[in-house]
Amino acid sequence: EAPFLRIHNLNKIFQQRGWRRGKDVQAVKNISFDIAPGEFVGIVGESGSGKSTLGRMIMGLETPSSGQVLLNDQRLGDSDAEWQRRISSIQMIFQDPRSALNPRRRVASLLTQSMENRPAMRNDRELRARELVASIGLAPDMLARFPSQMSGGQRQRVNIGRALCDVPQLLVADEIVSGLDVSVQAQILNLLLQLRQQHKVALLLISHDLAVVRYLCSRVLVMHRGEVVESGPTETVFAAPAHVYTRQLLAAVPPSDPFARWPQSA
Ligand code: ADP
Repeated sequence: EAPFLRIHNLNKIFQQRGWRRGKDVQAVKNISFDIAPGEFVGIVGESGSGKSTLGRMIMGLETPSSGQVLLNDQRLGDSDAEWQRRISSIQMIFQDPRSALNPRRRVASLLTQSMENRPAMRNDRELRARELVASIGLAPDMLARFPSQMSGGQRQRVNIGRALCDVPQLLVADEIVSGLDVSVQAQILNLLLQLRQQHKVALLLISHDLAVVRYLCSRVLVMHRGEVVESGPTETVFAAPAHVYTRQLLAAVPPSDPFARWPQSA
């Protein structure tokens, strides 16, 4: 299927101030790739390789120094209209749901927060909250809870449900299972697989954990010092890495057998 998202020659240079003046950091260097509808793409690389900066530029949380993000062949920039178009199609899920979720809102309100400034009927919002709570695998009585009354895994489900409220084409997920227990990780990863089937949503999964990427993603990009040094089908790249950095990464963090690690989900 034709890609709906194209990343073209994306660059990001952070200009340093004060005593670090002059020591600019090129966090992302000339990155180009596409994502097709429903495709799960992984980005791996050690800490500081530029993964988050790339994800944040796609989401629009960081302005590229040069290059383009094209959504359905239209360029996404900084204007209000482009921002609206971007957030209705691309949503980001962050690592720590505790800090991402407003502690004073109940689950029903958190799930449908994006609807609150729209002239929608109150009933529509209630109905959407019920649909979302079911699709993230939580019981309806959870709708009345506050984030502090849920487990970490439940909070991460709410975080994912929130992102799905406006039926996005892409979820950008930055280290979303790294803080969770292994059994809870399996539940969240399986939820993402299920959502792909139900909603055909695509996923850009940023992770330092190669097993997570191997479990979910058909394609992987390996980042090193801001560059994509290697990319291809996940199994091929992990089984026969072409770049020396990928081999180092695999030696440092073996992708392990994801089915051994999350056996109940196999
Ligand atoms: P990763 O997600 O792979 O850990 P990041 O994208 O967070 O990598 O960081 C890539 C590089 O950009 C690092 O050298 C980091 O220190 C630098 N960087 C990230 N954000 C900023 C910022 N706001 N200001 C200056 N440098 C930054």
